[in-house]
Amino acid sequence: MKDESFYASGLNFSCQRCSSCCRHDAGYVYLSENDIEKLIAKLETDRDSFIGLYCRLVKNWNGNKTLSLKEKSNKDCIFWESKKGCIVYGARPLQCKLFPFWESILFSKDSWKMASESCPGMNLGKHYSKEEINTLLEMRQGEI
Ligand code: SF4
Repeated sequence: MKDESFYASGLNFSCQRCSSCCRHDAGYVYLSENDIEKLIAKLETDRDSFIGLYCRLVKNWNGNKTLSLKEKSNKDCIFWESKKGCIVYGARPLQCKLFPFWESILFSKDSWKMASESCPGMNLGKHYSKEEINTLLEMRQGEI
């Protein structure tokens, strides 16, 4: 059962741009219609080409089919490049923007702690109140 009490006083996070969350690990980056439109504009392409080159169809947490970004064979994000990092950073999907304020990570103190072991930005820097965190959660729910 979800336990919000551990972030009643808020949480700290400031991305250190280490790219650890973009690389080496298999995972889904679910795309909303808004994400797709922004990425198409950024890449100056069309919808069919974008989906063919960069997307795969996967099941989301509800069992519904959803577009997700492809990964490279080494499990790096399709948009992560050596020396450049994320090549669509300004148009990156909302899921990436909202990390680490995801339902799965905010589920409990333990899930937050586990995620923080691979993200050096968690528990550092900018303070987010509980209300701000819940607003970020709602933003995601409103898009997907
Ligand atoms: S792992 Fe954390 S600190 Fe590193 S890029 Fe991702 S969000 Fe930023």
